[in-house]
Amino acid sequence: MTERKKIAYVFPIYNERGNIEVLYRTLVEELKRIESRYTFEFVFVDDGSKDDSLELLLELREQDPRVTVLSFARNYGHQMAVTAGIDYAEADAVVIMDSDLQDPPAVSIQLIERWESGADVVYAQRRTRKDTAFKRTTAHAFYWALSKLASIEIPRNTGDFRLLDRRVVAELRKYREHNRFLRGLVSYVGFRQEAVLFDRDARLSGETGYPLRKMMKFAADGILGFSTVPLQLISRVGLAISALAFLGIIYSVTVRLVAPETTVPGWAFVTVAMFLLGGIQLTMLGVLGSYVGRIYVEVQHRPLYSFALVAGGTEGRDDRTE
Ligand code: UDP
Ligand code: MG
Repeated sequence: MTERKKIAYVFPIYNERGNIEVLYRTLVEELKRIESRYTFEFVFVDDGSKDDSLELLLELREQDPRVTVLSFARNYGHQMAVTAGIDYAEADAVVIMDSDLQDPPAVSIQLIERWESGADVVYAQRRTRKDTAFKRTTAHAFYWALSKLASIEIPRNTGDFRLLDRRVVAELRKYREHNRFLRGLVSYVGFRQEAVLFDRDARLSGETGYPLRKMMKFAADGILGFSTVPLQLISRVGLAISALAFLGIIYSVTVRLVAPETTVPGWAFVTVAMFLLGGIQLTMLGVLGSYVGRIYVEVQHRPLYSFALVAGGTEGRDDRTE
């Protein structure tokens, strides 16, 4: 008999006391269908919860040795909690899920099946969602802006609910940037990525850990982490304003030449000078911006590339690889 594959589940937990028990029970019940073929680990990352989530998790751990509890010293945020889980989990595949039952445990089995048929990343894509109109509208606007600006394609209507093959996990661990936008990083890494559609439920109990302030920070991480377009915009605006200045100059000179008896109005000089100076300044800021953009990309310190396959011996070349 071949050894059973191991699947690790990663659950970020922030004030989820009303959900932990149901989540665990539902998941374990669902997993019975495939239990004979796999072993499981459940990694719960307590992100500095203020309620008694941690105590509940430790109780679970007493009952089930497959449960691992990691507890942060303070609230570092959802993305960090998931990162810690991915860093920690040792498994053939890692499934990331929200802990409020918005991501149905049954769907994770579909993710596993898709992984077995060859995908390295299986992301769960929302066919429908039961969030508030405000959340839906802002999410829509955000993904629209992201798709326009980002240097890579990040699938729409997906959260962090996804399965990652161990190869992808190994690559992700090399990305150590602080302002993290995980779903962007996963797209960035590459490999074979496929979608499974699902209907997203409403949060079972408790309230969202993403108030507007955190959502804005998250959106900024997504856009700024994968785009230097805003910096390039500076010089474009600068050039546009300079162009206006040149139109002004042409206008003034033409008036002078064509009809020397009419005086060029006084505002023309002021306007032209203002546009010209403003334009030059912005263009120069844009030049600075393009250097800053490069520095930014360098300090992110991302790996240069990831191999999906290396065919051929690597003997004697170990010293060249990391
Ligand atoms: N979460 C976290 N740290 C935070 C906020 C949220 O670990 O600072 C967890 C939370 O427990 C949940 C997941 O991240 O498992 C998604 O958060 P939430 O459901 O509050 O966000 P929403 O679904 O409203 O976007
Ligand atoms: Mg939620």
